[in-house]
Amino acid sequence: MADDVDLASQHEEAFRQHQIAHYREEKLSLTGRCYNCEDPAEGNFCCKECGEDWEKRKYFDSQQRIE
Ligand SMILES: [Zn+2]
Repeated sequence: MADDVDLASQHEEAFRQHQIAHYREEKLSLTGRCYNCEDPAEGNFCCKECGEDWEKRKYFDSQQRIE
């Protein structure tokens, strides 16, 4: 069993727990652009994947600030 895989899955698990604990509709102002990739978008994000990426980045950023 490789340690890399264990670490990665621990990160994924931590992120999932965070999502479950803190999930809510973000009240972001509409800019007409995707918050993640800045493509034109009707909502806050152009697609579901961008929303998840953005959430993930925000989560990891906040983790880094705590440490
Ligand atoms: Zn996007």
